[in-house]
Amino acid sequence: MSQSGIVYLDHAATTPTAPEVLEAMLPYFSERYGNPSSLYSVGSEARAAVEHARESVAALIGAQPEEIYFTAGATESDNWAIKGAAWAHESRGRHIITSAIEHHAVLEPCHFLQKHGWEVTFVGVGSDGIVDPGDVAKAIRPDTILISIMHSNNEVGTIQPIAEIGQIAAERKILFHTDAVQSAGKVPLDVRELHCDMMSLSAHKLYGPKGVGALYLRKGARIAPLIEGGGQENRRRAGTSNVPGIVGMGAAFRLGAQQMEADARHQIPLRDRIIEGILQMPDTRLNGHRTQRLPNNVSVCIEGAEGEAMLLGLDQEGICVSSGSACTSGTLDPSHVLLAMGVPVEVAHGSLRITLGRGNTQEDVDKLLSVLPDVVERFRAMNPWYARQRKARRSPEAQTA
Ligand SMILES: *Cc1c(COP(=O)(O)O)cnc(C)c1O
Repeated sequence: MSQSGIVYLDHAATTPTAPEVLEAMLPYFSERYGNPSSLYSVGSEARAAVEHARESVAALIGAQPEEIYFTAGATESDNWAIKGAAWAHESRGRHIITSAIEHHAVLEPCHFLQKHGWEVTFVGVGSDGIVDPGDVAKAIRPDTILISIMHSNNEVGTIQPIAEIGQIAAERKILFHTDAVQSAGKVPLDVRELHCDMMSLSAHKLYGPKGVGALYLRKGARIAPLIEGGGQENRRRAGTSNVPGIVGMGAAFRLGAQQMEADARHQIPLRDRIIEGILQMPDTRLNGHRTQRLPNNVSVCIEGAEGEAMLLGLDQEGICVSSGSACTSGTLDPSHVLLAMGVPVEVAHGSLRITLGRGNTQEDVDKLLSVLPDVVERFRAMNPWYARQRKARRSPEAQTA
């Protein structure tokens, strides 16, 4: 539990900035305010800090520092990878392959390109929320210029077979991008082993500041710029560098490398206790593969209770969780990820995502598991559809029918 008494269980939406990270950033707002592009010493001080951060980000994913380009977040990195690849390679073809479970930061640029003459194949997933590399291979056409499949899913936490898909893309000489935002600092990442040409990263999902991210672009891989202007980031991404943000991202990624194993050792038992606790309630199901999932992710469907209603009910008890993904909260559309997994619409409405972080404790889990059943019962009792379902399922005639 945090000092404020809030139990924060939504680390896939964002994380608190780690104290070490904030401390590393602070001087770059005040005494070290230089523009890293300036030639005098105040500038070179900032430049050195940005280059140190670049090394730290590269180190976490097995890249070279000169293959890391800082952006204003993973949304920009995803847009740049997809539109930049499309624009640079349109003379070779206008077909892109992605998956049906991508983050909106990938799906929307793909929809944009569809409106401008590109064709996009959205490969599906199994009921376990995992892309079959064979389906990706089957979708390849002579005019395919890009494959973009996320490393792990932000809603259901499934880890995708990226090395296999990367191998397929490499053999066919097709650019391969992966959105690894949710994986960075949680599971080992190595761009060479994964055979990826591009990887999107964000600072604020790994205890860094919001509004800063990076794109890994393999040396020799060619994409068009998205943001044009000055010559920053080796002339590939214009705009004065967000020095405090970049310094924070570097510090967060160094810390992430140090903490990765300890974080997983801490979070996996908590995750598994939450899963077991929730599945003890009737008419509940785990979304996504049981073991091929992020160490901090619990995604469940609780039939007969709206995800949004449960979220607000838990909030009244000081517990923060998400219903599906934060980006779709506010609308009542069920999650595109759950629908792609074949979860029925009525069931998908009862989705809840609980994502653990470094600060969570056994007491946090106890509190969630003691409060949630009452919240669920309260909403189920008000739901006539659920009452009918429950009755139909429990009646002997329904079982023999
Ligand atoms: C959060 C997230 C993004 C967007 O990152 P921002 O830095 O917030 O723009 C992209 N992809 C995935 C999988 C995410 O979880």
